[in-house]
Amino acid sequence: MRIELDTSILSESVRDIADFPKQGVVFKDITPLLGDPAAFSSAVDAIVVSFGRGTIDKVVGIEARGFIIAAPVAYHFGAGFVPLRKAGKLPYDTITESYELEYGTETLEVHADAFGEDDRVLIVDDVLATGGTAEAAIRLVERTGATVAGLAFVIELEFLKGAARIQGHDFVSLLQY
Ligand code: AMP
Repeated sequence: MRIELDTSILSESVRDIADFPKQGVVFKDITPLLGDPAAFSSAVDAIVVSFGRGTIDKVVGIEARGFIIAAPVAYHFGAGFVPLRKAGKLPYDTITESYELEYGTETLEVHADAFGEDDRVLIVDDVLATGGTAEAAIRLVERTGATVAGLAFVIELEFLKGAARIQGHDFVSLLQY
């Protein structure tokens, strides 16, 4: 018998906010999920189980909501946590990737010494939308010589086709819209 993951506890705690942060965007607000003990722990557990203990050395959280999910995921893997931040926030030597947004560009940075060459890295964020952020995160990790073992998202906005931009990498999304 196939056992399907019951994600109803997660979907019930994601809130749609119309026209935030700008007109025409439906923002997926995960703060009710984070505030619900069962939903928060289920989301973290589901990501850890998807890859399996012993497979990940470092978990990357993408600023800012990615941090919240990535840190407990890292703890459960017994892995290190690495913050991937917007430009100018990290205090030590960084490597940088810029990518196009709908309007303008975004820049992400990671500390130059964050990974060892043998590290198997899991990239974590709250939402996979167009995939531009995830693609930049992959490039940053790979430029250090470390290996991207996979990516994990609480939510995937399938209509934006972000999965196409992370092709060739294992990934999990807990909820699809
Ligand atoms: P993208 O680079 O288009 O895949 O966008 C992903 C990043 O933007 C993630 O860090 C998300 O936090 C954020 N994001 C994009 N679209 C949404 C949305 N509809 N609701 C919440 N966050 C979003």
